[in-house]
Amino acid sequence: MLRNKVPVLFLFAASHLLILPDLFSQGPKKIRTIVVDAGHGGTKDPGATGQYENSLRSKEKDITLAISLKLVEELQKQLPDVKIVPTRTTDIYQDPREKARIANEAKGDLFLCIHADSGPLKQGRRQIGTRTVTRYRVSGKGRKKKKTPYQVVEPVYEYFKLPLLRNGTSVWIFAAHKTSDKLKAIMDGDENFEIEANGVDSLESNFDFSTPEGKIIAGIYAKRYQERSDRLATMVNEEVETTGRQALGVSQRQKGIWVLQATNMPAILVETGFINNPEDERYLNSEKGQQELAEVIAKAVKRYKEQVESVNNNPKPANNGNAAEKNKPETVPEAIEKRPVKDSKLIEVKSNKIKIDLFDDGDIDNDIVSVYFNNTLLVDKRSLTAQAHSFTINLVPGKTNELVLVAENLGSIPPNTALMIITDGTGRHEVRLSADMKNNASIRFELKNNN
Ligand SMILES: [Zn+2]
Repeated sequence: MLRNKVPVLFLFAASHLLILPDLFSQGPKKIRTIVVDAGHGGTKDPGATGQYENSLRSKEKDITLAISLKLVEELQKQLPDVKIVPTRTTDIYQDPREKARIANEAKGDLFLCIHADSGPLKQGRRQIGTRTVTRYRVSGKGRKKKKTPYQVVEPVYEYFKLPLLRNGTSVWIFAAHKTSDKLKAIMDGDENFEIEANGVDSLESNFDFSTPEGKIIAGIYAKRYQERSDRLATMVNEEVETTGRQALGVSQRQKGIWVLQATNMPAILVETGFINNPEDERYLNSEKGQQELAEVIAKAVKRYKEQVESVNNNPKPANNGNAAEKNKPETVPEAIEKRPVKDSKLIEVKSNKIKIDLFDDGDIDNDIVSVYFNNTLLVDKRSLTAQAHSFTINLVPGKTNELVLVAENLGSIPPNTALMIITDGTGRHEVRLSADMKNNASIRFELKNNN
């Protein structure tokens, strides 16, 4: 079977109809391949270098290679069922495109870039002696102009680079609004990928990303990758915190990490430390420091893997806080966070696979709505008509499954009303929801099993 290289989602595309249910809680995403990139390399690209006075004169390319080799080893030890692919294991030059190509061809599920940071250094000076110089005093004008020499003693300085005060580890992900390269990487990818629904249905499909639907899906993948990258980056930062070292948090880089954008997978970049900070430089060059960083990153990757895979494959009811926490999507969309649900209906269903037909209720007055299922956007600003807009959702057993209707306008006859016909295989429910610009409406599903 072909291995998926995108977050797998249940996907149903008909002529004009596109269905994208919640893949965070359902996409059975196995982490099978992890690509580790030792940043920079070779004489052409040494990266940052230790330049402050008395620095170890270390080169970023050597530090990244040493840490990456240890990280590869650590990952192999901790995740023996995962294939770990290093972009380089020796001091060779690689174009960023080459690094991205290796990652994409390996069909990585994660891309870990190891770097070391630097920053502008201030110049210091110290007096190392004196010298005597001759100067001239000018007096008179024209022909009477006279130059009188005199001697002065001047200090002689030595200039040097001050060490960087900043230190610590930071984690970077690609910028949210800079998804165009990520989209390109996704669309350039292998067109064969696995489409699964809740781990049950499985089919392989040739998917054309050049179609309008394909572009939307690629966009969703990019968003998913970003969310997953952010999740992993946060875990790395948390693990760094446990070492007592300065953890500088997760940031989005607006430029300069092309490779994060060009890879068709979640990707993070770890700036392991500041090469021009004496404490950090020694740490980065030490066996202990390199090993600690490798262990910290591997630990975060392991946690991430467990979380992603348990969310997908463990539909047991969440009885303890920890499991509930794991099943909770990372972010609550603004449209849901800002508008409370006023109109909520509880429906008992017998199957976890639910078909929904969405119509405008009553007069067709150009109501525009969005629909979220378990905080994932399913219907994005769609105008309701008398014709059904149909989609399928997969309920997650053991949690509250909520479908939220968000009004994007009020239509010509407020409020914004929708009729949903809900089919669960055998039963059929008609639900009318009304939302406005201040309040959402929702349907909560209760799964009643026959056994
Ligand atoms: Zn670098």
